[in-house]
Amino acid sequence: MVRVRFAPSPTGYLHLGSARTALFNWLFARGQGGSVVLRIEDTDVGRSSREMEEAILFDLRWLGLDWDEGPDVGGPHAPYRQSERGEIYREHAALLEEKGLTYPCYCTPEELQEKKERALSEGRTPIYDGTCRELSSARRRELEEQGRRPAVRFRVPEREVSFQDLLHGFVRFPPDSIGDFVLIRSDGRAGFHLAGVVDDATMGITHVIRGEDHLTNTARHLLLFDALGYTPPMYLHHSLLLGPDGGKMSKRHGATAVREYREMGYLPQALTNYLALLSWSPPEGREVLDLQELLELFDIGDLSSSPAVFDRERLDWLNGKHIRRMSLSEVVEAARGFAPEWSGHALFPVMVESVLDNITTLGDLPRYLQTYGTKAPPDEKTAEWLRGEVAVRVLEKAADILDRRELADLESAREVVGELKRAFAEKDVKPREILMPLRVALTGKDHGPGLHYLLYVLGKGECLRRLRQALAGSDA
Ligand code: GLU
Repeated sequence: MVRVRFAPSPTGYLHLGSARTALFNWLFARGQGGSVVLRIEDTDVGRSSREMEEAILFDLRWLGLDWDEGPDVGGPHAPYRQSERGEIYREHAALLEEKGLTYPCYCTPEELQEKKERALSEGRTPIYDGTCRELSSARRRELEEQGRRPAVRFRVPEREVSFQDLLHGFVRFPPDSIGDFVLIRSDGRAGFHLAGVVDDATMGITHVIRGEDHLTNTARHLLLFDALGYTPPMYLHHSLLLGPDGGKMSKRHGATAVREYREMGYLPQALTNYLALLSWSPPEGREVLDLQELLELFDIGDLSSSPAVFDRERLDWLNGKHIRRMSLSEVVEAARGFAPEWSGHALFPVMVESVLDNITTLGDLPRYLQTYGTKAPPDEKTAEWLRGEVAVRVLEKAADILDRRELADLESAREVVGELKRAFAEKDVKPREILMPLRVALTGKDHGPGLHYLLYVLGKGECLRRLRQALAGSDA
């Protein structure tokens, strides 16, 4: 049975890149009838917080992703927070120590940093140089007497590491490419590598799907699986999410957190759709897909290994498509929080419908709905539409029709517009010459929702008032 995991570190809000990793895992597992485990990788206690953990869970759920085991729902392999699994890691570290595969390392963070910088400046890949690998017990005692608390390092064997990546094929790491890495930090907590491997092994993870930036880690992890006597999972390293300039997608490219996109009015199904399309082409040119449709069509074997370059315009395009795919009542519900100043209006659904074809995100709503607010005087150029004999006749006629009719519903508003057009039909007047003066008189703008929407939402009294105001010349 397929078992995958989402393994977020709760050190910040859910990043689009991590959401993409979670999505691939979810699509793969659910497509195979497998299980999803949510594991919180909070071994970095200083940077991790419960608040961020909750925010990440919230955002994952908002995207429509779910899991079978995790810190919130429990499961047979609980606990699901690495900070609560210290005992399990220590037992495994002890096992490695018994096998002579570890040694205490007394190098300080400053010393390590200095070595790293030196290596980089000399053009070498920074690899732990083995300073503490063969220390005599007398030297160890001496260092401990200086008050140094050792970390525990893994004694990396001198051999090539290779594996079959599900996307990249055969991957190999030559013998000297991996330095002895830390298993247990000097504060007694397990490091990222030990914790991750022990968890993947004891939680029965069958497939690890993660970003290419973890490729070298996988080499380390395979060595640990081997040393601990566990069978490793299968690995797939997907391409990274890059900003438009080719650098790893980060703050300097704009919003990176799923949360920020939600707040801007992007829909979860547009985000999952977009993130999937970044590295995968759907069959038969079907591009606009909700999560369920993605699940039906997605095949991890079709994933592309090319870099995934973030393109906001494509996301916008998809979001607009998804908005217009929803039923009006669904959009209205989703829109409420984005237009609080309008959502209490009895005709809010009509207002939303009137701008539906124009918006890209729900966050665009307030700007578009402004039309229904207080009328601002038209600017110089727009006011031109109110001048001239035809415009005056149109406005007079519109007032006349409105006087006689009731604007009971959208249909009656549509009829008002129809009657106005018919009144000028035989007089060699262009439709724009009829509709624009009316629009400008009603809203002060030369663009906006359909006139029947404007008439209906503003209501007969307000429309007449605005028409008369325009006729009195106070607009022009
Ligand atoms: N916690 C790691 C991260 O957030 C994921 C590690 C993994 O997938 O093995 O990058």
